[in-house]
Amino acid sequence: MQEYSLRPHHGLCIAFFVGKGYSPDFTENMTAVISHLELENPMITLVNGSDIICRNCPHCHNGICSSNEKVLEYDKAVSAFCDLHTDDIIYWKDFRKLIYEKIINTGHRRTICGNCQWDSLCSFNAE
Ligand code: SF4
Ligand code: SF4
Repeated sequence: MQEYSLRPHHGLCIAFFVGKGYSPDFTENMTAVISHLELENPMITLVNGSDIICRNCPHCHNGICSSNEKVLEYDKAVSAFCDLHTDDIIYWKDFRKLIYEKIINTGHRRTICGNCQWDSLCSFNAE
């Protein structure tokens, strides 16, 4: 894996991932991405478009998410909570720490993506 581009809200999705996803291909890639991030702690670049997770998603068409407006709002909100910006480059584990400190541990996750189809699963996994 050469390039670690990440949509900010995928920091949340990764935190709550339990092996379920949009397709077997998506789930396999997501599992591999998380493993690489945790083992290598690479620098990641925050992007507001398709990233290393989107690339194997059936909802990604020509590099654009079919729910682009909605997920861009998630990305903006995560960036705002973490005081980060598009194109910022940060170690994965530093980003993960911010995700937990600023959003998950303070109970803001549902404020950001409570209208996602996976909300009940992610809420359940947070208990
Ligand atoms: S509710 Fe959706 S956007 Fe939010 S963390 Fe879960 S999968 Fe990701
Ligand atoms: S294409 Fe959309 S639904 Fe699929 S992983 Fe990317 S942001 Fe999520």
